[in-house]
Amino acid sequence: MNITGLRNDIDALDDEILQRLIIRAGFAEQIAALKAEAGESTRDADREAEILDRLCAMDLGPVSADDVRHVWRAVLASSRRMMDQSRDLLVCEQRARRPISIGALDLFKPHAETPELIAGPCAIEDAEIVSATAAALAKAGVRILRGGAFKPRTSPYSFQGLGEEGLGILAYAAREHGMACISEVLDTRTVKEVARYVDIIQIGTRNMANFELLKEVGATRKPVLLKRGFAATVDEWIHSAEYLAVNGCNDIIMCERGIRTFSDASRFTIDFAAVAEVQARTWMPVVVDVSHAAGRRELVPPLFKAAIACGADGVMVEVHACPDRARCDSRQQLTPDAFADLVKGVHS
Ligand code: PEP
Ligand code: MN
Repeated sequence: MNITGLRNDIDALDDEILQRLIIRAGFAEQIAALKAEAGESTRDADREAEILDRLCAMDLGPVSADDVRHVWRAVLASSRRMMDQSRDLLVCEQRARRPISIGALDLFKPHAETPELIAGPCAIEDAEIVSATAAALAKAGVRILRGGAFKPRTSPYSFQGLGEEGLGILAYAAREHGMACISEVLDTRTVKEVARYVDIIQIGTRNMANFELLKEVGATRKPVLLKRGFAATVDEWIHSAEYLAVNGCNDIIMCERGIRTFSDASRFTIDFAAVAEVQARTWMPVVVDVSHAAGRRELVPPLFKAAIACGADGVMVEVHACPDRARCDSRQQLTPDAFADLVKGVHS
């Protein structure tokens, strides 16, 4: 067969595919109508994931699974747009909140009596310090160990993190103490590397609106903690979460870490109303990072208590075995003892 003949065959196939897509859209429309009648939300992230997984498990011949995912994500997005449900996370209050399962841990259980604790050093500096900190934190009830391996520093001359070596140290310490671990990814080039080591990927405040990064991180389908941009509105923050969800992430944790205001009482001002607002409008758990908001360790305990009083699903605190020797955020990190005292008072 010559090129013209083959092109004619492709045109005929394209016509057929389009006709089929139109029929598919009709079915989706009928499902949307039935769900609306039942008062259910239109989008079902699990169902979308199931569709993608089923298709990719087929014998795809010369087509790659990545390409199939890419094409079908566009098909699913088109279905959603047609149903005028592009603001998915905002309209799915009815979706039951479910825990985020990592190994044997069920994290962020809905209606848990105590908030989930995320704690650990600002940056991973050396294995000994991380291991000593992790041991004390596990004893205090922490189930998620944090630590930065790629650090977004204000000055290019400041310590930038240990990179992959740091990820290995963090993951090892977490496993040693039966915890999950979380670390920040700074750019698209290292998404796969970070995803290989950590259980939860953190998007920092400076990257909340880095949409290309959000797309790549969402596509890993790992749980993600999304910090609010320090100058972002709640709507902008939720839209960023939408980028993660649309690209395949089903487990998103929102993190309020303080915004820029004229107040100089703390490094950033925690917007407690935003915590309640996101909880009311979406199904996502909301965590408060009290350390980066505080900037000084004396402010950590009152902000920690305030976060719990306002109903946060979790609290993040920077804890370092020797805060005075820390290579970043030394002034705001607690000692493990101070952290254990704080937790004993309000988290039992
Ligand atoms: C961090 O948690 O390590 C961090 C850098 O936080 P933020 O992005 O909120 O500044
Ligand atoms: Mn820090």
